[in-house]
Amino acid sequence: MSQIAEKIQSIKGQIPEQVRLVAVSKTMPISMIQEAYDAGQRIFGENKALEIKEKAENLPSNIHWHFIGHLQSNKVKYIAPYVKLIHSIDSLKLLEEVNKEAKKNDRIISCLLQFHIASEETKYGLNPQEAYELLKSETYQQMKNIKIIGVMGMASNTFNTELVRQEFKYLRTIFQNLQFDFFIGDIFFRELSMGMSGDYQIAVQEGSTLIRIGSSIFGTRNYKNN
Ligand SMILES: *Cc1c(COP(=O)(O)O)cnc(C)c1O
Repeated sequence: MSQIAEKIQSIKGQIPEQVRLVAVSKTMPISMIQEAYDAGQRIFGENKALEIKEKAENLPSNIHWHFIGHLQSNKVKYIAPYVKLIHSIDSLKLLEEVNKEAKKNDRIISCLLQFHIASEETKYGLNPQEAYELLKSETYQQMKNIKIIGVMGMASNTFNTELVRQEFKYLRTIFQNLQFDFFIGDIFFRELSMGMSGDYQIAVQEGSTLIRIGSSIFGTRNYKNN
């Protein structure tokens, strides 16, 4: 068995069956993604619009491409034909753009609202008040080509596991509040995207449904800014 296949199997062995693994393949070559694909992996996460486009056009069409990083409105057009789930909606403006491009492609694109849950300043994301304003807006309510199916967040990059756990609990609370206030009876609103290589065990204990794992599968990345 290849090393990538072994790592995927090992992670899957540690998580409950209902938790899905997003293999974060940003910066990784097609050959490594193919290796993971051959090991049965179908969901891959990328954070550059043009990289998704390039990879999607050169890999099997039954791969589910997830966009996981900060997304600029002017790049949405590149991913709209391919992307299965966008984890990183952090403004009404971005959601409007996704809706517009989804419509052009005659698709409905699933999206997660990204929340700022870390104590660090640098991470993108909404706060609960901004999310409430977005969901209450007339603009959002008119959108027909997007579907919000849950929330996403990144915990602080720290060895303080108690802090990380608190941040994941906070995200789950946000999820539950939104579910109660806006998505009652909506069976599609059920995703809690949290947990990366360093903290996915805690995330799973706190109710994650989608873990996003890069370096523990593919090894360390070359580019520092990824
Ligand atoms: C890169 C990235 C990951 C994966 O990080 P690893 O620590 O390599 O597992 C997960 N989520 C987001 C949003 C990322 O940008």
